[in-house]
Amino acid sequence: MSLLEVSGLKLRFYSLDGPIEPLDRVGFQLEEGEVLGLVGETGCGKSITAKSIIKLISYSGGEIINGSIIFDHEDLLSKSEKEMQKIRGAKISLISQDPMTSLDPVYRVGDQIIEAIQVHKKLHYKEAKKKAVELMRLMGIPLPKKVFYQYPHELSGGMKQRIIIAIALSCDPALVIADEPTTALDVTIQAQIIDLFNKLKEQFQSAFLLITHDLGVVAQMCNSVAIMYAGNIVEKGSVKKIFHSPNHPYTKSLLECIPKMNQKQKKLMAIPGSVPHPLHFPTGCRFYPRCQYAMKKCLSQHPGLIKVDNDHFVACFKYSNNSNGE
Ligand code: SF4
Repeated sequence: MSLLEVSGLKLRFYSLDGPIEPLDRVGFQLEEGEVLGLVGETGCGKSITAKSIIKLISYSGGEIINGSIIFDHEDLLSKSEKEMQKIRGAKISLISQDPMTSLDPVYRVGDQIIEAIQVHKKLHYKEAKKKAVELMRLMGIPLPKKVFYQYPHELSGGMKQRIIIAIALSCDPALVIADEPTTALDVTIQAQIIDLFNKLKEQFQSAFLLITHDLGVVAQMCNSVAIMYAGNIVEKGSVKKIFHSPNHPYTKSLLECIPKMNQKQKKLMAIPGSVPHPLHFPTGCRFYPRCQYAMKKCLSQHPGLIKVDNDHFVACFKYSNNSNGE
């Protein structure tokens, strides 16, 4: 059995305009030590998938109405809030999008690492401090004993992100969910953080669920990819399969939007239109309004994921047996 198995996940919010279901039939697996990239444009449902896994979605008013989340042989959806508090930070940790606001401004950064260690590992302050300094050293923070006593506002964005990663790894979690961990950083710092992640995944035994809109980051860090569009997984497979033989028109378009170093390009390709709001999801294939291959049945029928190869699945009628455009 996989470390994490998400299947048939359906999420509902209640708005003044009626119920909204931003996730539907979301499913993927993550093996121990694997790095899975969850990719899609802004508004596709990536971050709420992460929040659903650790059951933080109810704090935003969401409700999981269908599906299952099995982590380390345990059904997370049947866990109480008290039980989830023991899992969050200890077995599953979350690195959120913005390092500028993720740390508490009134506490020293060292104490923020120690807090996570003391809560879950029950170590004395002296032992926890030793572990915190060691973690800071592993994160490539220069003069960790000095930085330990500094406040977040005294650190650069890159240093703050290293502290957040140290907190996330402080209890040796089996799964780290990293939600756009490089998006708020400038490009040189992004490259350093990607290097750091690549070193850490060798050193720690944790699996990573990397949420990103950046396929370049996926190519550098992941073993497998799940492409998400309008609350559905539309294609999933190994990095090699998705990058070298993508099937879904959305995946193909995302890859075509990446500038090519070895080709002269007058104009950068862009996917026409935008991701629909969950209140206005099309009834059939949700990519229908933006798809150049759309057929009549795409308008009314929802394509399920079908196997196209050993480790490659796609949700598109182009690849089903009777894709005759009826
Ligand atoms: Fe395009 Fe139809 Fe495939 Fe959807 S199912 S991606 S509309 S061809």
